[in-house]
Amino acid sequence: MTALIDSYDAAFFDLDGVIYLGPLAVEGATGALAALQARGTTVMFVTNNAARAAQVVIDQLNGLGFHADDHNVLTSAQVAVAHLSRDLPAGAKVLVSGSDSLAALVGQAGLVPVTKASDEPVAVVQGYDPAMTWPRLDEAALAIQAGAKWYATNDDASRPTERGLVPGAGGAIAVIALTVGGEPTIFGKPFRPMLDEAIRRTAAARPIFVGDRIDTDIVGAANAGIDSLMVFTGAHGKSDLIATGPGERPTHIGANVGALLEPVRTVEFTETGARCRGQEAVVRDGAIVLTGVPEDLAGQLDALWAVAHLAWQHTGLDTADALAALELIR
Ligand SMILES: [Mg+2]
Repeated sequence: MTALIDSYDAAFFDLDGVIYLGPLAVEGATGALAALQARGTTVMFVTNNAARAAQVVIDQLNGLGFHADDHNVLTSAQVAVAHLSRDLPAGAKVLVSGSDSLAALVGQAGLVPVTKASDEPVAVVQGYDPAMTWPRLDEAALAIQAGAKWYATNDDASRPTERGLVPGAGGAIAVIALTVGGEPTIFGKPFRPMLDEAIRRTAAARPIFVGDRIDTDIVGAANAGIDSLMVFTGAHGKSDLIATGPGERPTHIGANVGALLEPVRTVEFTETGARCRGQEAVVRDGAIVLTGVPEDLAGQLDALWAVAHLAWQHTGLDTADALAALELIR
């Protein structure tokens, strides 16, 4: 059997909604990752979350049964600080508007983390900090007005919690942008530096990125010029997939990360529609209709992949009934 991963030498993984969901591993993820690492695939875990130190992420992954260490975990804070240390002279003062772990990274890179605009920092770096306060935002805004370069680890608009969405790092950036105008240099997905750094660190020739969000993961992979696998264990679902425009579409879809070890789904267009393996979608009266609804998840994903290709080729067709029939897919 030829597996999807056979075409790639490395697999990069988003974490939340792909590898784990809150405190729990995504079902099947530990087994799939162990199988990938056993067959020699280079694995890297990539997270936009800049509030937690890499070691905290490493410990969490190992605690859940994954194999992670310094070499295969990358946070947006690490990427940001790597760039800062290239952009700024050694010993430069940087106002850190983020977590203590981000400030510690800045210090380890030979820069001097400061907290006040009156310290005359040459740069401001923003990162997610659940303990952010308004006076600290004031200092960042004042430093940028005084001429400091403006950076941010990532700009995620929100952060999912068990109680609902709370403001993400993008919220704090928006506060500063409303105040002083302009925008920072951003490193996390969907911006290129994050996945470029993953490629640099792994020396991968042909990596694939696995993610659950279109706007950060799939677009991020496209921006970095690498293939992607969208999985349905996290934030986005079938209607998000259908709604994507060119440049926002995954190369592959799968139920979960285990799809890397399974055969590739390919779609062929027919005279009346599109077919993926045994499943066919056709156009009828301005709508996309399935010729049959498979009862198993793999078959429903085949059908979804056929529906998606047809919908992307003929925009404006009604996909509501076809998608509703695929009830095993979120
Ligand atoms: Mg995610």
